[in-house]
Amino acid sequence: MITPGDPGHPALRFINTVVDDGKTRARDSFGSRDDFLSTLVEAGVIPPGLSAPGTGQTAALITLREAGYGVLSAIAAGRTPGREEALTLETAMKSTLQDAGFGYSSRGLAIAPGPLGGVYDHVVLSLLDLMTRDDLDRLRECKRCTHLFLDHGRGRGRRWCSMARCGNRAKAETFRTRQRAITG
Ligand SMILES: [Zn+2]
Repeated sequence: MITPGDPGHPALRFINTVVDDGKTRARDSFGSRDDFLSTLVEAGVIPPGLSAPGTGQTAALITLREAGYGVLSAIAAGRTPGREEALTLETAMKSTLQDAGFGYSSRGLAIAPGPLGGVYDHVVLSLLDLMTRDDLDRLRECKRCTHLFLDHGRGRGRRWCSMARCGNRAKAETFRTRQRAITG
C-alpha cells in the first residue's frame, strides 16, 4: 500500500535519510550505525540479517547517498547531472556489478549482490533498479526540502514529500507571509 509520504521506491527512502528543514542535507535521519541499518531494512533496501556498516562503510554510504541525490535531483529538474556525482555513482555501480550474481527467470534478469556483498552492494543495486525504471519521468523533488518521490498522481501533481512533513508547514508560512502583507 502506498501511504502518504511514501516516495515510491526503496532507494528513494535511502536518498531521503536526511531531516533538514530546507535544502541543506546536513542532518541524517538516523542516530547510530545500527539505527541506519534498521532504517534500510524497514525501507526494503536491504534484507534483514546483515551486519551494521562500519565507520568507513557508513562514510561510503553517505557519499553514495549524496551522489545519488545529486544525480536524481538533476533528473527530476531536467538538468544534466554534475560530472563528479555521476562518476561516483557509475564507479559504485560498475564495481558492485563486477561481483554480482546474475539469475534468469521468466521475469528476466535478476541481479543480486555477490557472496561477499554487504549493505553497500544492496544499496547500489537498489539505486540501479530505481534509475532504470521507465517511470523515472515521474520523479519529483519536494518544493521545501530535498526529499525525492515518484509522483503518480493526476492533475497539478504532488508538491511536497508529505503533507505532515512539509505541506502543512509551507501552507502555514504562506499564511503568515500574507498576514504580514495585510497588517504590515
Ligand atoms: Zn519535503
